[in-house]
Amino acid sequence: MRVAVFSTKPYDKRFLTAAAAETDHQLDFFEARLDRTTASLADDYDVVCAFVNDDLGAATLLRLAKTGPKLIALRSAGFNHVDLEAAKSLGLPVVRVPAYSPDSVAEHTVALMLALNRRIHRAHNRVREGNLSLDGLLGFDLGARTVGLVGTGKIGVAVARILSGFGCRILGYDVNENPAAIELGIEYVPLRDIWGRSDVISLHAPLTPETHHLVDASAIATMKDGVMLINTSRGALIDTAAAIEGLKSGKIGNLGLDVYEEEGDLFFEDLSDTVIQDDVFSRLLTFPNVLITGHQAFFTVEALEAIAHDTVGNITAFAAGNPSGNEL
Ligand code: NAD
Repeated sequence: MRVAVFSTKPYDKRFLTAAAAETDHQLDFFEARLDRTTASLADDYDVVCAFVNDDLGAATLLRLAKTGPKLIALRSAGFNHVDLEAAKSLGLPVVRVPAYSPDSVAEHTVALMLALNRRIHRAHNRVREGNLSLDGLLGFDLGARTVGLVGTGKIGVAVARILSGFGCRILGYDVNENPAAIELGIEYVPLRDIWGRSDVISLHAPLTPETHHLVDASAIATMKDGVMLINTSRGALIDTAAAIEGLKSGKIGNLGLDVYEEEGDLFFEDLSDTVIQDDVFSRLLTFPNVLITGHQAFFTVEALEAIAHDTVGNITAFAAGNPSGNEL
């Protein structure tokens, strides 16, 4: 199959090329993000391979369907950036990589919690400047605290497994209870109890119309004073403007983000020589108790190998006319 790979970074090329080595697929790598204006690059290809910030809305799909591919192969678990209805009506099947390494995201989630709690990002800068003062670095024993997880699927459970090793009390909220979570001792509670009882809240639900701005001003108002909020799922689960108000009032004591609701124009690029135009994002960067990473929670060797392996497997199954089990 001829595959047009969009939003390619050097690591995508390395891992996908290795995974496809034993196949006869021809992979062509484009740095461009996929959207309505770049979709023509996929003319005459069999497959479009896309990542999390590619735009697979109706307009892009319509343009792709004119001359392009027979399959959309996402190299991500999340699929909130795809208009599935439009894909279906255009007869374009979509496959994804549902589980590549829940541990990669879970470990990054806990890294954000630990770094924020002990102010590692500030301590590192201070020590490099010769400032060995401890003022402003006071943390708490994570094991003595209650952590609330919203979404107890693969990643939520992987986070719970790590945190149970610290001795944390773990609350969970999900629209479906997961037996693996119950086995780990997670106590399922209503969402309002996650907000009201948790010292640390971590989001692991997908972005859907129901979860859009799940954390808004009214939810934040019911949280404990000084709550730590972590989001490694999708940016729009949090109303960022409301979170900024929560930070200014002190209601939110720590905010750790690997995702941001307007990340599409920012993340995965080196913008260090440019003036960032997003004032909301710029405001977030001014808080000493906010730690942001650029959608890197998945970024481990194991995860990239698994993503590449399963993406190529999805394409091979499609070429052979077999279901991969990863169809949306
Ligand atoms: P999963 O499907 O295994 O688990 C998601 C859970 O959320 C499920 O248990 C589901 O029932 C629950 N859920 C759905 N709607 C809900 C709602 N309205 N309220 C509460 N819970 C709800 O998915 P996963 O592998 O655990 O991934 C979770 C999310 O993590 C993905 O959707 C994706 O957006 C994000 N993700 C981020 C990265 C990253 O690099 N930052 C990498 C992979 C995945």
